[in-house]
Amino acid sequence: TATEVRDPVRSALESVLDEVRSKTSGEVASYIPELARVDPDPLGVALVSVHGVVHEAGDTDTHFTIQSVSKPFVFALAVDALGLEQVLTHVGIEPSGEPFNAISLEPATGRPLNPMINAGAIVMSSLMAGDTADEKFAAIHAGIERFAGRDLVVDEAVFSSEAQTGNRNRALAYLTLAAGTLGSPVDVATTAYFRQCSISVTARDLATMAATLATGGVNPITRERVISEDAARWTSSVMTSCGMYDESGDWLMRVGLPAKSGVGGGIAAELPGQFGIGTFSPRLDAKGNSVRGVAMLEAMSARFELHQMQHR
Ligand code: GLU
Repeated sequence: TATEVRDPVRSALESVLDEVRSKTSGEVASYIPELARVDPDPLGVALVSVHGVVHEAGDTDTHFTIQSVSKPFVFALAVDALGLEQVLTHVGIEPSGEPFNAISLEPATGRPLNPMINAGAIVMSSLMAGDTADEKFAAIHAGIERFAGRDLVVDEAVFSSEAQTGNRNRALAYLTLAAGTLGSPVDVATTAYFRQCSISVTARDLATMAATLATGGVNPITRERVISEDAARWTSSVMTSCGMYDESGDWLMRVGLPAKSGVGGGIAAELPGQFGIGTFSPRLDAKGNSVRGVAMLEAMSARFELHQMQHR
């Protein structure tokens, strides 16, 4: 019997996958040794609506490390817990136009330019509740799990690889400590941050997390309020201005959605009030953004007229 109804959103996602599948340019991240070993080929996309309906296509069960996609969500937890004013004494909200691992602190205040670059993200991790790395990571982990709506584990191999090789991040943390903007000792902040980056997620998790911002802070699947509406709006704003490394201006022009990418190959994007999208494909362009993830979101934005600055 032909009673099976085809999900039109899923069909659209599948056609987007087909459109980008042959793009095999780019390289998996290699500066973290363990990331150099990941399979470069998986390709997946998930869309979660603000009503909690999940649509997905391709490799949406494949796990990868969240890396920098964690940054806006930890910023969200920080502003939710401490308020924007307090957080802004530690970090700025201006795009840096520089690579994610740049040494960019405001000369006058010692604040990292924004919470999406490593220096600013490490400061955000240092502001989490608790005194030890374990306590701070517990706060981060619990918060990320509420955004994703399920239990998440740390990829211990990636964590130890990052902890062993993360001296540039330690150096950034020391600079913020010297400038007075770090909220904890360096090893506490960097250990919590390395574990945060090593949380293992799927494209569906990223879509759910982005959808939680799109609703204004309520996870649309668990119905739990994770952060305040203000915190969700501030987070979407900082993703819009700073989320795609030093490609953020170009991204805003071409795709026009708040988004955050990570060197694990994931991207979380949202259309506020409508849905979250998670993409996964590990090969990265020169700026560190997933080649096929960017291509998928660019195609979806054009085809479904998702650009935020679109006249409606
Ligand atoms: N853990 C990575 C680092 O700090 C995250 C980088 C990223 O995804 O941009 O270098």
